[in-house]
Amino acid sequence: MKRKKMTALDKLPLFRDFPELKDHLPHVSLATLPTPVEKIEELCSAVGIADLYVKRDDLSGSVYGSNKVRKLEFLLGEALKSHAREVITFGFAGSNHALATAIYANQLGLKSISLLMPQANAHYVRHNLLAGHHYKARLCNYGSLPLLLLGMMFQFCRSKVTLGKFPHIIPAGGSCPLGIIAYVNAAMELKDQVVAGVLPEPDFIYLPLGSMGTSAGLILGLKAVGLKTRVIPVRVIEERMASPARMLKLIRDTASFLCKFAPTFPHVTVSRDELLIRNDCLGAGYAQFTSEGVKAADMVRTSAGIILNGSYSAKAFSALMDDATKGILDGKKVLFWNTYNSRDLSTATGTVDYHDLPKAFHRYFEDEVQSLDRRSYDKP
Ligand SMILES: *Cc1c(COP(=O)(O)O)cnc(C)c1O
Repeated sequence: MKRKKMTALDKLPLFRDFPELKDHLPHVSLATLPTPVEKIEELCSAVGIADLYVKRDDLSGSVYGSNKVRKLEFLLGEALKSHAREVITFGFAGSNHALATAIYANQLGLKSISLLMPQANAHYVRHNLLAGHHYKARLCNYGSLPLLLLGMMFQFCRSKVTLGKFPHIIPAGGSCPLGIIAYVNAAMELKDQVVAGVLPEPDFIYLPLGSMGTSAGLILGLKAVGLKTRVIPVRVIEERMASPARMLKLIRDTASFLCKFAPTFPHVTVSRDELLIRNDCLGAGYAQFTSEGVKAADMVRTSAGIILNGSYSAKAFSALMDDATKGILDGKKVLFWNTYNSRDLSTATGTVDYHDLPKAFHRYFEDEVQSLDRRSYDKP
């Protein structure tokens, strides 16, 4: 009997259905896929929706989960393909993306540089800085975007001189077409789970909107596989960084990127009024916790044992709770896409003394965290 050899690549529905992409898209297997979908009865009754499911992307990696792991399969795949020795990425001080990049770059034998800008203080910022240092990221602090760009030029020169090569650039949040296709794949994975009866076709998916790649990929992917599910991206960052116009461009660029290499990929178009962005859960600004978010995180932790992040997933869940309270979700099938990490890194962070970090980061350990941040809500 002839047996088709299953490789890691075949596990991705995107490569299974469009095999021609395999020759064109760099990919390295990092994630544990498909991620589970769970219906947690205690959570359903706490929120008051009969059909509430959770997509557990927080378990997407064995060392570190989150939405960033799926994107890094392609982005670090590209770094390896270009024989890079070092990657460079960007974010705010507590960036989950920068941490995920540091961890998986380190696992693949690549050096990593995180160029970070100031943000509101929180326990998870401390945690991510310690973990990033443990995983050998070169952590650099810049007070503003122009300084960060100068710093990037400096790091480029330094790498060229010391390693003989420029570092490979990974955009903030991993949100370029190559990273975004990871969430086109994730939409196809969800379709597989619907077909397999793991969950019914959801009416709505709630998730946080940051650099927009996760939502953009899901919107494109769901349409391509013919699911009617509506994505509700809950904006957790200032609008100039997450505008509908930018999001449409990301979706269109990703669609043409895919169609270029896979001519059979469905030619879907997405219009502006299909972007159902929620703008009312940001609060005072990026990484500024809201009392609604903290309440949501509290409820999810007690009823489901899942930790939400005050800057991201807690705000997304507060939008879901708000809609549930208003009755908008009565009788609907709702999926909460959990984008945060829930793997425990305390063994890694326990080995690091914050004094070993560059001096500019010490203030996150010496200053108070914001008053709404209570550690129990925002570990790991
Ligand atoms: C980065 C991040 C997001 C936002 O995803 P984008 O693709 O940047 O929109 C959501 N949740 C968490 C926990 C994140 O770290």
